[in-house]
Amino acid sequence: MAGISYAFYMLEAKDLAKHYGKIIALESLSFQLQKGEVLGLLGPNGAGKSTAMRMICGTLSATSGEVFFMGEKRSASSLDQAKSAIGYLPENAPLYMDMDVESYLCFCAEIKGKQDIKKLVSIALQKCGLEEVRRKNIQLLSKGYKQRVGIAQAIVHNPKIIVLDEPTIGLDPKQVSEIRQLIRNLASEATIIISSHILTEMQMLCDRVIVLNKGKVLANKSMQELNQMMQEKYRYEITLKHPVKEQDLPQLKNLDILGNKILFDLKEEEELNATLKYLIDANQIVVSAKKQDFDLEDAYLSILGEQ
Ligand code: ADP
Repeated sequence: MAGISYAFYMLEAKDLAKHYGKIIALESLSFQLQKGEVLGLLGPNGAGKSTAMRMICGTLSATSGEVFFMGEKRSASSLDQAKSAIGYLPENAPLYMDMDVESYLCFCAEIKGKQDIKKLVSIALQKCGLEEVRRKNIQLLSKGYKQRVGIAQAIVHNPKIIVLDEPTIGLDPKQVSEIRQLIRNLASEATIIISSHILTEMQMLCDRVIVLNKGKVLANKSMQELNQMMQEKYRYEITLKHPVKEQDLPQLKNLDILGNKILFDLKEEEELNATLKYLIDANQIVVSAKKQDFDLEDAYLSILGEQ
């Protein structure tokens, strides 16, 4: 997925911010994407994902910050040009339900100012697996197929950058897996930004993940760095003979106590010995100490929790 190094970035955002009066929808977002890279914006509802995407696509003006396409700063005069370089699937895809799939895509290609519409539509239909339903009215399609039509309208003009806002939300597991496969295929030809609140989705699709919460960037890491981060965390479960309360162990921080079980994360494996010694000195009887897997979802929650 990640492409070769270019003299300029395909897409770059510098300190993008959006304020609505006192509400800070997005504080300061910066990233650089090379050709073929897939960036994930990850965060719970209200994190600022859609706001970021709309500003990147130029459908929402930024309070401050800059966007660069292929090294060139986007300005009011180059907005149309930038829009044609981007394919955007907003949260609620703008589908005309009473049109058939093919007519709708022809219409989308036309308003994006394209020539050779038939050819472009036929490629989009094929890429999105819509050939069988090309003559069907959009309202008669399943949710998964409607989402494919939404993606098809985003890519019909053959954009270099594709921005997909929560592309798998509300789909059943089979549809989710089909849409993910479709996104993977698109990544071979374009730079992609997707948003999601599901970390495993990011793991499957993205080269880089930006974690947002309440408008703040909490992390901006390559998938490799995120995986590394997980390996550096050690979660332990210690079982004691008798139940304890937090106030019985005042020196131990950041732990969950469930009756006679203590759950905690260590940064270094060596800290375990000191913890066990502390428990024994506190007259606790240690029955067992087990290392647990720290998965990607835990990493995400720990990033959110560290805010
Ligand atoms: P996400 O896509 O991560 O769910 P959004 O980008 O939609 O988050 O929203 C980020 C924050 O900005 C939220 O707190 C939301 O309420 C706020 N917000 C979005 N649009 C407006 C608006 N037009 N006026 C005031 N606040 C807004």
